[in-house]
Amino acid sequence: MAIKTIGILTSGGDSPGMNAAIRAVTRSAIYNGFGVKGVMRGYKGLVYNEIVDLHSQSVSNIIQQGGTILKTARCKEFATVEGRKAACDNMQAAGIDALVVIGGDGSLTGAGIFAREYNVPIVGLPGTIDNDLGGTDSTIGYDTALNTIMEAVDKLRDTASSHERLFFVEVMGHTAGYLALNSALATGAEAAIIPEMETEVDQLADLISNGFRKSKNSAIVIVAENPQTGGATALAERVKKEFPQYDARVTILGHIQRGGSPTAVDRILASRMGEAAIEALIDGQRNVMVGIENGKIVYVPFNRAIKHDKGINRNSLELVKILSI
Ligand code: ATP
Repeated sequence: MAIKTIGILTSGGDSPGMNAAIRAVTRSAIYNGFGVKGVMRGYKGLVYNEIVDLHSQSVSNIIQQGGTILKTARCKEFATVEGRKAACDNMQAAGIDALVVIGGDGSLTGAGIFAREYNVPIVGLPGTIDNDLGGTDSTIGYDTALNTIMEAVDKLRDTASSHERLFFVEVMGHTAGYLALNSALATGAEAAIIPEMETEVDQLADLISNGFRKSKNSAIVIVAENPQTGGATALAERVKKEFPQYDARVTILGHIQRGGSPTAVDRILASRMGEAAIEALIDGQRNVMVGIENGKIVYVPFNRAIKHDKGINRNSLELVKILSI
């Protein structure tokens, strides 16, 4: 069946650059003669029929805005057979023939299931600050979040060095340490504690045994959030108990990392990927996520994208240690 109208939705956690992606998808689609509909609140809008028309002007003046004009949500109903049936019925009633889904691994997992069940053409865009999708060097929002963390840690460094304190800074990414590791490199932090490496306790012991305060009067340790172990708060408690001589403090950056105007890198990435999503649908590609590898657009099957097989660069972790002596 020829595609006439394309629906766009943003799902899961918001990430800076989603709006730039919505703009790029909408305008590339219109440029190529398609009609465009926006689905509000991720899969919720499909299940509960919240679908709006999108025109070229609907996406004016949003490239610089964080968040998503289509809103986003988590939708349990879409994980049920009945929910997806309602989604399919509403999609057909709205005349949507294909979907562009912008989101993280959960959103792309749902997209894969829906596409198989109802033979819907779907192309995904990696929209998440975590950078935890396979088959792409970067996800939309990652660079902005990294810069947000960098600015915050630079500020903390001023107070850490003035008060001669040890700061544990907790960042997002409980299954992927990209934000923690690369923000540690970018800020000259003394260490990064990431989920891909041995247990936090081992990493902390390593840190202490290296005598991180011997030659310095302050230290910053970036810790990836960890709901199981308690993340930065639990680590700081341990240090305070075992090494009372250290003045350990905790800063949890939280949702600040998600917001803000996207960087040029994320705007350009979102623009390129958005256009590539429409190219993919025109070429008859289905169930693929648009990725970027070595600067080139690639198309990655959903099952590879959600595999978490990218792996962390261990050299970068070593580099944090070498450069913080
Ligand atoms: P982030 O990486 O920012 O958390 P995400 O896309 O991984 O984003 P999730 O909350 O995991 O966020 O997933 C978003 C939505 O995708 C869910 O609320 C649900 O509607 C849908 N989804 C996730 N997993 C499935 C599944 N197995 N079957 C159907 N739908 C799913």
